[in-house]
Amino acid sequence: PCTDFDMAYFHSYAHLGIHEEMIKDRVRTETYREAIMRHQSFIAGKVVVDVGCGTGILAIFCAQAGAKRVYAVDASDIALQANEVVKANNLSDVIVVLHGRVEDVEINEQVDVIISEWMGYMLLYESMLGSVITARDRWLKPGGLILPSNATLYMAPVTHCDRYSGSIDFWRNVYGIDMSAMLSLAKQCAFEEPSVETITGENILTWPHVVKYIDCYSVTIGELETVTTRFKFNSMMRAPLHGFAFWFDVEFNGPAMPQSNYPSSTSFTDNHLVNGSQRKKRINPNEALVLSTAPEDPPTHWQQTLIYFYDPIELEQDQVIEGLVTLTQSKENARFMNIHLEYTSGGRSHIKESVMR
Ligand code: SAH
Repeated sequence: PCTDFDMAYFHSYAHLGIHEEMIKDRVRTETYREAIMRHQSFIAGKVVVDVGCGTGILAIFCAQAGAKRVYAVDASDIALQANEVVKANNLSDVIVVLHGRVEDVEINEQVDVIISEWMGYMLLYESMLGSVITARDRWLKPGGLILPSNATLYMAPVTHCDRYSGSIDFWRNVYGIDMSAMLSLAKQCAFEEPSVETITGENILTWPHVVKYIDCYSVTIGELETVTTRFKFNSMMRAPLHGFAFWFDVEFNGPAMPQSNYPSSTSFTDNHLVNGSQRKKRINPNEALVLSTAPEDPPTHWQQTLIYFYDPIELEQDQVIEGLVTLTQSKENARFMNIHLEYTSGGRSHIKESVMR
C-alpha cells in the first residue's frame, strides 16, 4: 500500500533541485551512461524498464543505446516533466512514461533490462531497492540484465579532530567566555544523528569492513528489513577515534551468460595519459565498472555518512575495536533507518542508537 510517508517521499522528488543535484553529480551520471554504453549490444533492440526515471535521463541514455522500448516509471510528478522531455527529443515512439509506482503500474510484456538509480545515503536509506526487486520479480525475463548488478556497503573507524573540535571544543572558549556548560548539549546536538559529509582517506584508520553485499539478481525484500554484522578492526595508527564512516559502491556487470552477447573489447576506447602522451587504452568489457562513494575516490553527492561518538576513544596503534552494527527499516516510517551500534575498545563498551530521517 502507498502510505502517507510514500506520498511525502514522492512529493520530495517533484522538486527539480534534487534532480539537478543528481544530474550534476558527474561521477554518478557518467558512470551510468558508461554502463549503458558498455552493455549497448545487449540493450539494442530490447525492452527496458527504468525504475524511478526522474527527469528521464537514464531512459533517454537507453534509447540512445538503441533500446526498442523503454518504460520510464516514476510515481513522482516529475514524470510529467519527463514525458515532456521525451516528446521534445522525439523519443515518444521508444520511451513510454508511466506515472505511478512500479508496484502499481501495468506493463504488458516481460523486459530484458532493468535500470535504476536507487541508492540512498548509506546505500539503504530511502529503501528504494525494494521497488527494484518488485520490478525484477514482476517483469524481468530469465537471463535479463540489471544495472547496477550488485552493491556493497562498507564501514571503517574514523579520526576527525577538526570536525570534533569545531563542534565541541569550540564551546570551551567563546570570545573569551567559558561556555563548557554547553558541552553535553553540544555533543547531543552535533552527534545524535548520522551526518552526511565528505571525509578523505586520511580520516580512515583501517581497511573497511563489508557491512552488506547485495546481488541485485537474487536479493529479497525480506533480507533488507534488517542488516546486521559483527566487525573487528585493528587501528593502523595511534589516534583519537571519533566514530565510524559508511560508504558504498555499486558495480555494473552483465548477467551470467555467454560472452557473445557482449561487445568485443575493441568497441570501447578511453583516452589515457601514458608517459605524457595521449594513447588509446582498451577497456576490457569484462572488467567491472564501479560507481564508488569511498573517501579515497572522487566525491559524489552521496558523500560519506558518519556516525560520531559523543566522546572520542584514544586509540593506540594496533588497538582492537570490535562490535556490531544493525540497520533496520524504521517501524515509524519504512523510509527511515534505525542504526544500532555496539562497540568495545580498551575494555570499555558503548551503545549508540541513531535514526536517519
Ligand atoms: N533515474 C533518475 C532519478 C533517480 S532518483 C536519475 O538517475 O536521475 C529516484 C526516483 O525514483 C525518484 O524520482 C522517485 O520518485 C522514484 N521512485 C522511487 N521509488 C519509486 C517507486 N516505487 N515507483 C516509482 N518511482 C519511484
